Amino acid sequence: LVSRKNKAEDTIIDINGEKIGQGEPSFIFGPCAVESQDQVMKVAEAIGGKGLKMIRGGAYKPRTSPYDFQGLGLEGLKLLKKAADQHNLAVVSEIVTPHHLEDALEYVDVVQVGARNMQNFELLKAVGSINKPVLLKRGMSATIEEFINAAEYIIASGNSQIILCERGIRTYEKATRNTLDISAVPILKQETHLPVFVDVTHSTGRRDLLLPAAKAAIAIGADGVMAEVHPDPAVALSDAQQQMNLQQFDEYYDSLMKFMKQY
Ligand code: PEP
Ligand code: MN
Repeated sequence: LVSRKNKAEDTIIDINGEKIGQGEPSFIFGPCAVESQDQVMKVAEAIGGKGLKMIRGGAYKPRTSPYDFQGLGLEGLKLLKKAADQHNLAVVSEIVTPHHLEDALEYVDVVQVGARNMQNFELLKAVGSINKPVLLKRGMSATIEEFINAAEYIIASGNSQIILCERGIRTYEKATRNTLDISAVPILKQETHLPVFVDVTHSTGRRDLLLPAAKAAIAIGADGVMAEVHPDPAVALSDAQQQMNLQQFDEYYDSLMKFMKQY
């Protein structure tokens, strides 16, 4: 059902008035994790000030170590929703288990399925039965075929509002956190009718690569870019290495807008 052979036209997803997949790239910015009301308010103000329509922020964080910050859970979603509402932003946030879905849907507009859950088939079926867009991330060791099959689980359960998100894959290369598989973008766009995003933060894991990676994503035809923004990345409870501060975010966004005008 996700195949181009089955449906030739691009799927366009309306999120808060923004038409994802319509041609113009869209942007999802926000902190790695929701940490406090003040933190998300500051980021929401910066995003809203640019006329953007979405904010991200993790409340259920799938961390490698059980001793690392696990997120604020439902409380975090409430903080994020409050900040988002003040600036007319849609909330994008990861859900890690079907058990959280019903409560979370009150506060979340776009349900993110994270890389670690790309083949959590019960979760895929659960988000397939909701009436909200799903941002599906590529598993860190998933082939493109497996990624497409994960999306197929969601659409087969009845939900065709799916955004695919390339976020880097695991390779032998250590210079970046993951290897951004940029060619996945045109392949996914050829093989499916779904919009494709590139997460430049989790793929590169490097602040200095956020801009060139986003330019590459846009140039190769991505429908949007995701990147993390935090008022004070040095004290962030997760991904301190690669989040942008608010001034870096301003410069980053300006540079990207200038780059896009060249097209
Ligand atoms: C995230 O976007 O917050 C995240 C954890 O990313 P990924 O699932 O791609 O690692
Ligand atoms: Mn992160």
